[in-house]
Amino acid sequence: MVHDVLCDVENCVWNRKGRKCGATEIFVSSRKGKKASDHHETDCQTFKPIQDA
Ligand code: SF4
Repeated sequence: MVHDVLCDVENCVWNRKGRKCGATEIFVSSRKGKKASDHHETDCQTFKPIQDA
């Protein structure tokens, strides 16, 4: 089980300083439903953008 998820997507509401994910769980999928062959072909579906004020 993953203890810490390091993530540099700074415009996600779950992102914490130190580039860590603060969500209780995340869902990562293969991009476009295809079999991923490298990290570029995976996406975090838990991403939620910080709304600009
Ligand atoms: S939810 Fe996904 S994109 Fe957002 S901080 Fe966590 S790992 Fe990064």
